Amino acid sequence: MSSIEQKKIVCDIAIIGGGIAGLWLLNRLANQGFNVILFEKNSLGGDQTVASQGMIHGGMKYTLNGALTGASEAISEMPSYWQKCIDGEGEVDLKGAKKLSNHFYMWSSKSILSKMTTFLASKAIRGRINKVRGDALPNIFQDRQFRGNVYKLLDMVLDVPSVVEKLAKNYSNRIFMVDWGKTSWQKDANKKAFLNFNENEKKYVLHAEQFILTAGEGNESILNAMGESTPRMQRRPLHMLMVKHGYPHSFYGHCLGAETTPRLTISSHPCQDHKQVWYLGGSIAEKGVGLSTEAIITKAKKELFALMPWVDLKDAEWAALPIERAEPKQRNFNRPDKAFAGITKNHSNVIVAWPTKLTLCPNLADEIVFLLDKGNIRKSKTQLPELSFLDKPKISITPWKRVFGD
Ligand SMILES: Cc1cc2nc3c(=O)[nH]c(=O)nc-3n(C[C@H](O)[C@H](O)[C@H](O)COP(=O)(O)OP(=O)(O)OC[C@H]3O[C@@H](n4cnc5c(N)ncnc54)[C@H](O)[C@@H]3O)c2cc1C
Repeated sequence: MSSIEQKKIVCDIAIIGGGIAGLWLLNRLANQGFNVILFEKNSLGGDQTVASQGMIHGGMKYTLNGALTGASEAISEMPSYWQKCIDGEGEVDLKGAKKLSNHFYMWSSKSILSKMTTFLASKAIRGRINKVRGDALPNIFQDRQFRGNVYKLLDMVLDVPSVVEKLAKNYSNRIFMVDWGKTSWQKDANKKAFLNFNENEKKYVLHAEQFILTAGEGNESILNAMGESTPRMQRRPLHMLMVKHGYPHSFYGHCLGAETTPRLTISSHPCQDHKQVWYLGGSIAEKGVGLSTEAIITKAKKELFALMPWVDLKDAEWAALPIERAEPKQRNFNRPDKAFAGITKNHSNVIVAWPTKLTLCPNLADEIVFLLDKGNIRKSKTQLPELSFLDKPKISITPWKRVFGD
């Protein structure tokens, strides 16, 4: 009869999911001295993170109806928080991570923006947003055909893969690949979750004072596997567009329409061959859910032509990307206005978290630090667990690299 060797391993905190939320949290908690490790099932920066537009909003996008909402209050400190981290002076070290731009724009026809003028001029956002005209307009609007108002926001755009890489590099010794075919959840008599890893003839049992689920959309199936039904998740589907072209100007900004969601959002991502990819979101991506690739590309071509008829994209290559944002469930499918971290019902040591926006990861980490404190989770003097039997995950590549290559 073959006997399976069993080894107990321990840590203070185990994070499940290595998108921006998990990686940010790993850095923050490791900096605080916790014995913390992270498990990723595919590649770091997985699903949503590397598919994001990388815009670090200070909240202006959420004030389109002229009111400073809960969303804009929670978010308004975020650009300066991220900047400190990039300068190497924040709670998380992002020194070396790249930015694509130090600002982005909002533009629209006169009538739409004039509704907001009073608000835009108000004290709440003074100094962070300026109207630009003439030579100060971005190159893309230096065309005689352009009509409209342009505002410049001092909110940055991140080169997201470089941020993921930096966060992963800071603590690569604490990041591991998890294969759920060989790993399972269990619960002890005190309702504490623990993990079983089955490796050939060996079984490893990982006990963590706290598990934190930051698996984005994957949180839902983890909760199902654990027999939990709350906290609940909602999916916000999008149909993004990618257009690779040789038009020389990059652009980062929102075109405002009559609704609270921007009519079109453009971010630009440089390629190795000196071309660039414009990544298109906003209302077109929300309303285009369910359309065929061909139909949404046709719609996007028309929209770009309507807004920027002078931009020549004749030789461009087009692709579409259906993708979902994972958010904590809200009444009436509203947009959550803060990062979310909550506890499960049937386990005493599991936190579930969704940042809801890349921008809000620092806010999410604050919420989790608060919950850890409340749960009396303390730093132990234990060594990092020995997990060398597990592989190391790679960094995800962006959707446009996957489609167009470098
Ligand atoms: C098209 C788009 C554009 C966006 N643009 C912006 C923007 O400009 N600005 C902004 O602030 N926000 C933006 N967002 C939102 C932002 O991208 C997300 O809020 C954020 O990336 C979510 O990060 P996350 O780590 O929670 O999830 P994810 O990035 O989805 O990462 C989850 C990770 O968990 C892993 N995982 C899943 N299941 C398991 C499991 N069972 N075990 C282990 N690991 C698991 C996945 O492989 C993945 O690596 C955008 C989102 C989308 C979709």
